Amino acid sequence: MKRLSLVSLAVLPLFAVALRPAVGAEVRHEIPFPDLPSYQTLKCDLHEHTVFSDGLVWPPVRVAEAWRQGLDVIAISDHIEYQPHKEDVPTNHERSHELARDSARAHGLLLVKAAEITRDTPPGHFNALFLNDIKPLDTPEFLDVIKRANDQGAFVFWNHQGWQGEEKGRWLDVHTTMFQNKWFQGMEVCNGDEYYPNAHKWCLEKNLTMLGNTDIHDPDLRQKSTSQDHRTMTLAFVKEKTLPGLKEALLAGRTVVWWKDQLIGRKEWLEPLFHRCIQVAPPHLRSDKAIWVQIRNACNADIRLERSGNLGPAKLDLPAGTTSLVQIGVGKSSGPLELKYTAKNVLTAPATGLPVTLRIPAR
Ligand SMILES: [Zn+2]
Ligand SMILES: [Zn+2]
Repeated sequence: MKRLSLVSLAVLPLFAVALRPAVGAEVRHEIPFPDLPSYQTLKCDLHEHTVFSDGLVWPPVRVAEAWRQGLDVIAISDHIEYQPHKEDVPTNHERSHELARDSARAHGLLLVKAAEITRDTPPGHFNALFLNDIKPLDTPEFLDVIKRANDQGAFVFWNHQGWQGEEKGRWLDVHTTMFQNKWFQGMEVCNGDEYYPNAHKWCLEKNLTMLGNTDIHDPDLRQKSTSQDHRTMTLAFVKEKTLPGLKEALLAGRTVVWWKDQLIGRKEWLEPLFHRCIQVAPPHLRSDKAIWVQIRNACNADIRLERSGNLGPAKLDLPAGTTSLVQIGVGKSSGPLELKYTAKNVLTAPATGLPVTLRIPAR
């Protein structure tokens, strides 16, 4: 009897492991943005809250919901100066990261240790990423906090620049001081449902990194990310999928923001992303007057094109993850063709679409 129970005890965990994935396994829906020629594309949300500040979610839940929706990286950035739940959840700046860490490891999701420096506007709110120790940032003088974050090697960005306050949308002396000291390196061009054209412009002028995040406080109930319904997120183009790899990409400004139905960023990164997404096949049919080609949009964002040259349809809407059949009137030409378009929802500057050339190979 004793022996039998030993055997069954030894076998039981094996059965448990074998059976577990079949029931209630977590499922992830990938976000198929392609990698760039020399870089891997990471989908990141670098501004999130939990019950440890004014969020309504326990930290590991943030990991599971992001993984399920196809994200690769999150930063939990609870407010240092604002904890409305502190009667129930004591102030502990390290704790949300500690609690989420094991879940992040189990899901293979990168978790950035972060905090939101939360002062009135001006100067506004700033996120500090890649912190070692959050506690020293709990100090009265704003510029001391920013300096201490930088002394830890943090990547600091200005959050929701156009959000509120009489100085909303304005670049002031305090921002110049921080910029001249290289104490912040990026800005949120998009936060949740908002896009800030001024932030987009300043990032271009001052060589700051562009970010798009949710600043999420509630649970996110989405099961997957689609072109019609997804988080605001940052695509970061990394040499390696590690925290140092992400930091290197952010410092180098290799990002694109996916916000609603727009891709927003710097031409340098939007252009290769576009050409990885949009694939033009050689013509599969020719007549005396036209050719027929298939154009595939391999990424997760719809792309809207308007003709800027004189060849091809006036408009081309290429839905995410589909192939479009396109007829082009060309006479008897059988050589390669170049179709000039503007990608209206791929913004290289405020209200400025990316100019693109679709090259149709000869048959
Ligand atoms: Zn904020
Ligand atoms: Zn926030």
